[in-house]
Amino acid sequence: MDLYSGVLSKLIEEFASLPGIGQKTAQRLAFHMVNQPKEKVERFASVMMEAREKICYCKECFTLTDREICPICADEKRDHSTIMVVETTRDQAAYEKTGKYDGVYHVLHGAISPMLGIGPNDIRLKELIQRLEKDVDEVIIATNSTLEGETTAMYLSKLIKPTGIKCSRIASGVPVGGDLEYIDEVTLLRALEGRQEL
Ligand code: ZN
Repeated sequence: MDLYSGVLSKLIEEFASLPGIGQKTAQRLAFHMVNQPKEKVERFASVMMEAREKICYCKECFTLTDREICPICADEKRDHSTIMVVETTRDQAAYEKTGKYDGVYHVLHGAISPMLGIGPNDIRLKELIQRLEKDVDEVIIATNSTLEGETTAMYLSKLIKPTGIKCSRIASGVPVGGDLEYIDEVTLLRALEGRQEL
């Protein structure tokens, strides 16, 4: 049943297709949008287009950035011999927020999940292994404490061990099944400091 006119329905439908947005929120957002000044909506749309066009993967760590090399990888003051492996750019942002980690990152963009048919070749694992050929002292595996995160951590540690590079896993201060981005900074720091060598 189409409660609203065609274009409005279409707008609601688009909002509802976004992650975490239900029908009610979609309606609220759609009504909000059509009540905004035209310039504001134009600005919003153009920022969205710009982000879509300009955001790419950092050539080093594969985080999302609008530069060839992201600001963290480009920062010479950071310790480039320590790489923290995270699942997503949002997880990376969570660790950055603590302000206490001065190494660099590697963003996998996912985790191994046999159930969902996601294998090692479907995430940025190869690229990480290539980075290990440079001067790397430690790899800190900070994938989530989900089944997929643990599977990925195990797989990674097996790959890294033969290289002789120190490989550690963040401590279990992070609750099982926990999504890194929602965990507070103190817990994240504790997990990082209590990391154990694998
Ligand atoms: Zn980078």
